[in-house]
Parts: sequence; structure tokens; C-alpha cells
Amino acid sequence: MSPELSRPRLEVTIIIPAFNEAESLPGLFKRLFPVLEGLGRSCEAIFINDGSRDATLPLLLRAQKRYPGLVKVVDFNGNFGQHMAILAGFDLARGDVVITLDADLQNPPEEIPRIVECIDRGHDVVGTIRRNRRDSWFRRAASRVVNRLTNRITGLSLHDYGCMLRGYRRDVIDIINESAETTTFIPALAQKFALNPVEIDVEHSERERGISKYSLFRLIRLNFDLMTGFSLAPLQAVTMMGLLISLLSFFFAVFMFARRLIVGPEAEGMFTLTAILFLLMGVTISCIGIEGEYVGRIYQEVRGRPRYVIRRIYEKGDGEK
Ligand code: UDP
Ligand code: MG
Repeated sequence: MSPELSRPRLEVTIIIPAFNEAESLPGLFKRLFPVLEGLGRSCEAIFINDGSRDATLPLLLRAQKRYPGLVKVVDFNGNFGQHMAILAGFDLARGDVVITLDADLQNPPEEIPRIVECIDRGHDVVGTIRRNRRDSWFRRAASRVVNRLTNRITGLSLHDYGCMLRGYRRDVIDIINESAETTTFIPALAQKFALNPVEIDVEHSERERGISKYSLFRLIRLNFDLMTGFSLAPLQAVTMMGLLISLLSFFFAVFMFARRLIVGPEAEGMFTLTAILFLLMGVTISCIGIEGEYVGRIYQEVRGRPRYVIRRIYEKGDGEK
């Protein structure tokens, strides 16, 4: 029997990944714990310290000591990323309802009871759409493009892929735990397995303390995980583009040949030719890149290294050590 099955069940699990969030945690505790106490259900809060280099771990341990029955702290042996942290939480979660939340208070913990209610009403995945989203203009515009594009190429339908305040019923968590993927995007994965998902509006606030943990480069990497993890459309697009370019080039070559016979050899147009060549070279390199994104991920999967390494789990009276 797997360890999850032998663990006693609870009603609600909250999972919160934290990477250098020392500045946000005191405010989070102040708002989260009263919500959980007011929920009137058996709960646990699992915090994952994703290789923080600031005072995140000591702060989490202090909370664990204060609420030993409620708080569990998973200390990662390095930075494995938000999605891996959440997966570690899923693996340990005992709740029939599992809710994920960011540590930076951009998603209000006060929305937790509404998510639990949706699951009570029979939904198996509760997604959220950020009302008045408080992020930079650039992030909002980029998200709009990514949300639309992702829905198109993955065949899923979600309005807001980025918002991590979400709820999942136990059966969906069990399927995700069995999936064992190393590069994944949790909201999309859950959406794939959901039978009766729903999306609700939630408030969104600015990040008041600390900085976003996603640089532009990390955001792009994450979005590649989303695209490659859920669709082969990028590969098919490469093939189609190759066919189209070959076809056009063929007609162009026939035209040039005919022109040469009729008008004579062509010596000018050097720069046009160079520009076309550069363009095609760019296209070729991008296509190799797209294929590489898949190959790299296949390599990662077959290598079969652990998805994350847990240094230690602190639970029940461990906090003082
Ligand atoms: N996070 C994490 N590991 C990472 C990056 C982020 O655990 O490598 C956590 C972070 O501490 C926060 C959540 O994931 O609780 C969302 O991160 P952030 O607020 O920086 O993302 P944004 O809101 O800018 O998308
Ligand atoms: Mg944030």
C-alpha cells in the first residue's frame, strides 16, 4: 500500500510553496490561520520551502511550532520550482479537498471557503480567474496571449492559467500523483483529468513584499513546459511550415528558371537574397529549437532522476529542533 493510503484522512489541505518569501510570510500567517480556524473543518497547511536563502525556513518552523497539528513544513534540498513544490505537497496531502495558494498574498486566503464550497457542490477542479489583476502591464498582456494560444493548441479551455489559487478534489489529486511528470504545469494537468471543472472570479492584489520569483526567462521556460507538456501542435506546425516553404521555394525556382531563359541571368538583388536567407535561417534555427524542447524533456523524463529532493519534513512537535 502506498504511504498516502495509510495516512489518516482530513477534510482540507492547503499547499503553499515558498521561495525567499520571508517578507510575505508574517502577513500570510496573520490572514491564513484565522481563515482555516473559521472553516470548521479538519485541515492541514503544508508549506514547501523551495530552497530559500532568506529567513523563510525559520519563519515556517516557528509557525509549525505554534500550530503543530495544523502546519507541516517540507524543506527542499534546493530550488526545484513552484510546480515541483506543489507536486511534493500533493504527494503528502491528506485532505479530501486540496487547495494551492501563493505565499505572497497576491491571492487572498479569504477566498478559501468559496473554493471548498464549489467542491462541496460537486466540482472536482476549481479554477480561478483574477479579477482586476494587479500585475505589470507587460505580464497581463503576455498572459492574455498565452492563455488564448494555450487553449488553441492544447484543446483545453481555461481562462487564466497563471492563477495558482485553485482547488482539487481527492480523485484528481490521486491521478496527478500517479502521473509522475517532471516538467509539467499543474492547472493544465488537472484540467485534463477533470470531469466537472468550474472557474470562479477571485480578487487579486499587488505583491506587497519581496519580488516576483519569475524572471522573463523563467516565465518563457514555464510556458514551454505548458506548450510541450500538453500538445504536439508546435511540432506539427514545424512540419507544416517546412512543407509550405518547400512548396513556395519550388514555385519560386521554376519562376526564376523561366525568367532566366526569357529575360536572361539575374545579377542584382543580392541584399534581397541575403535577407530571405537570413529569415529562413532564423526559421530553421527556431524549428530545431522547438524540436529540442521536446527532446530535452524526453531526456529529462528517461533519466528518471527524482523530481525533487526533500531534506526534511517537519511535522507534529518537530519545529523546535
Ligand atoms: N515559488 C517557488 N519556487 C520558485 C518560484 C516561485 O516556490 O522557484 C513560489 C513563490 O514563493 C510564490 C509562488 O511560487 O509563493 C508564486 O511565485 P511569484 O509570486 O514569484 O510568481 P508571480 O506571482 O510573479 O507569478
Ligand atoms: Mg505572486
